[in-house]
Amino acid sequence: MKYFPFFLQLNKLPCLLIGGGSVAERKLDLLVKANADITIVSLDFTDYILDLAKSYNIKCITNEYSENILKENKYKFVISATNNVSLNETVAKDCNKHNIIVNVVDQPDICDFIFPSILERGDITVAVSTGGASPVLARVLRTKLETMVPASYGKLAAIVAANRIRVRKKMKRFSSNKIFWEKMLNGKFLELVLSGKTDEAESFLDNQINNFDEDIANQGEVYLVGAGPGDPDLLTFKALRLMQQADIALYDRLVHPSIVDLIRRDATKIYVGKERDNHVVRQEEINQLLVNYAKEGKKVLRLKGGDPFIFGRGGEEIETLADEKIAFQVVPGITSASGCSTYSGIPLTHRDYAQSCIFVTGHLKEGKLDLDWPKLIQPNQTIVFYMGLVSIDIICSQLTKHGLSDQTPCALIQQGTTNTQEEFISTIDEMPNLVKQKKPKAPTIFIIGGVVALREKLKWYKTNAGD
Ligand code: SAH
Repeated sequence: MKYFPFFLQLNKLPCLLIGGGSVAERKLDLLVKANADITIVSLDFTDYILDLAKSYNIKCITNEYSENILKENKYKFVISATNNVSLNETVAKDCNKHNIIVNVVDQPDICDFIFPSILERGDITVAVSTGGASPVLARVLRTKLETMVPASYGKLAAIVAANRIRVRKKMKRFSSNKIFWEKMLNGKFLELVLSGKTDEAESFLDNQINNFDEDIANQGEVYLVGAGPGDPDLLTFKALRLMQQADIALYDRLVHPSIVDLIRRDATKIYVGKERDNHVVRQEEINQLLVNYAKEGKKVLRLKGGDPFIFGRGGEEIETLADEKIAFQVVPGITSASGCSTYSGIPLTHRDYAQSCIFVTGHLKEGKLDLDWPKLIQPNQTIVFYMGLVSIDIICSQLTKHGLSDQTPCALIQQGTTNTQEEFISTIDEMPNLVKQKKPKAPTIFIIGGVVALREKLKWYKTNAGD
């Protein structure tokens, strides 16, 4: 992080602005808004600045800038807003010498602090910075945010502020405060305010404050959430919402790091592993952890790759919760068969090639793969093997042994939907050799059937790994 964002109370803080032209005008507007104690130094001033100075008691010093003014050691920060580059550089150097933080307009390399692009909704301030790279890009982003944060958020902040102390006093437990506001700001109260029904919202809030049941609210809950195959854009809205509400998160290896980054910043994040044959935390322990944390009253996020109910042991985990009478919600995710086939241009069904599709596990049990092979080899059926990389020799030989043509096209998709996705395309008789040569990296999914041939025409996803 090049610049750390913090919101500073400027009220009556002495600051020095150097420059009296149009560049300085923009900075002056902001300083006035924040009620800073402002001194401006310049040889001359625009009428606009002189007017503001009169109205807001701003001290204007009509003089050339000289280092002497910093020697008083009074100013907490300095803004050099002139269009004279060498003067700006001198100011920056002097400020460094006197340990005063400085902003130089349009010269981020010599700034101690920079001004973000700001979006305001009442007391809500959203600040966007590109680390000095491009103020225009920051403004573009801010404009995007403008459309996402309606003006009524200002009103919302005002109602919340007016009720904060009352809610805090009413709650017996410290944790209830946060739970109460989370509930209000994700539900009907929020909707009423945003749709302009302020009176109704206030009386609804009043009622909720008076009737809030802390015991029920403090009970824990588990969110079993599917994170999809890798690309964060494939998360559902519900997944993201619950990820943002969790107090604690247990995630495994298949959850892509850029998705882990989207979990609420303050949540405790626990990696529970689960690489093949190398379980960092055993399944029974995971089940028990979910129970224990929920019993402590926590909102527990159990985040799994793909869909929790497809080869994800999600069923086992919530069975334990159900036995213990712990509340839970399950959020489906895009399973890797679906994500990987789509991102490699292979439709799992197609009127001309496949009328059915079967998902199978290639996970070996004591070195063996005990499957109903004839059932897999149905005409016009796509077969998708999860966890099939280690057993790829057995899969290919068993399929041909049971009658599948050894020329059947197949695709092994590595790290599907991520920017390291790679596709290995071959036929059933050649795939084991290709794997030996190319050594694909886990996770991989194995798709077999006539539909694979469509990829040549339908592939669309470009990755860093290339094709
Ligand atoms: N619940 C998951 C599957 C878990 S089993 C889901 O619905 O996708 C683990 C297997 O999923 C891996 O061995 C691999 O076959 C597959 N897999 C998961 N993510 C993948 C990805 N990004 N690319 C390729 N295969 C993936």
